[in-house]
Amino acid sequence: MARVALVSGGTRGIGAAISQALKAAGRTVVANYAANDKVAEAFAAKTGIAVERFDAADYAECEKAIAQITRTMGPIDIVVNNAGITRDSTLMRMSREMWDAVIDTNLGSCFNLCKLTFEGMRERKFGRIVNIGSINGQAGQYGQVNYAAAKSGIHGFTKALAQEGARYGITVNAVAPGYVDTDMVRAVPEDVLQKIIARIPVGRLGHAEDIARGVVFLTADEADFITGSTLSINGGQHMY
Ligand code: NDP
Repeated sequence: MARVALVSGGTRGIGAAISQALKAAGRTVVANYAANDKVAEAFAAKTGIAVERFDAADYAECEKAIAQITRTMGPIDIVVNNAGITRDSTLMRMSREMWDAVIDTNLGSCFNLCKLTFEGMRERKFGRIVNIGSINGQAGQYGQVNYAAAKSGIHGFTKALAQEGARYGITVNAVAPGYVDTDMVRAVPEDVLQKIIARIPVGRLGHAEDIARGVVFLTADEADFITGSTLSINGGQHMY
């Protein structure tokens, strides 16, 4: 039977490309989203991928959703922690709410979904977890102490959990995208964006599919010797 893969934030942008690529690789995919029903419904209709609305930052909501997905689709063998938001501002102007929202969504969701699926993976002696970090978690970024802290946390989380999963056939890896042409990056002012592109050696923004390819690679059944690693996919912008 096809392995079940859960992709948080899997209906738009990078997550949508990951959901589609995992489906093309033969997985049964569930794409989670937070609020944007219209986009999610259109995505489901276009791709045939199941969509589930729940707040990945909310532990109780995740608990309910995971139980339901497991009941209807089967045990979850693959988790891609992709849900993410930005609330950019300098520290001077950043409110506590902006800090909490970004930490809870980007990092807290990773804890929630790993915590709720890890035990089953251990019992079945198989699991593939991929956490989506960021170039800005590796290198830092002006106006993003919240986001850089959350993404840098993702990288530490990945290396720690990889050690806990290794003897049970569970691999835990991170993908660190550079700047990718999605809604998140389209929100960056055009002049700033042009300066960013000028610093990318490959000379373009990434495509969501560039990131999805890495996730498919890391979640393959055969990828059982790759764990605790970070795959940077950034057009050469940051060589780490
Ligand atoms: P988008 O803003 O295009 O899409 C975000 C997705 O996450 C949407 O499906 C959204 O759902 C979902 N989401 C947001 N908050 C929650 C939540 N609390 N619970 C469940 N789902 C949620 O983002 P990108 O595709 O650009 O980014 C995807 C990931 O890649 C993020 O983790 C981001 O930090 C990371 N990244 C992106 C880069 C880029 O250049 N784009 C660069 C480096 C990293 P809904 O549609 O309902 O809002």
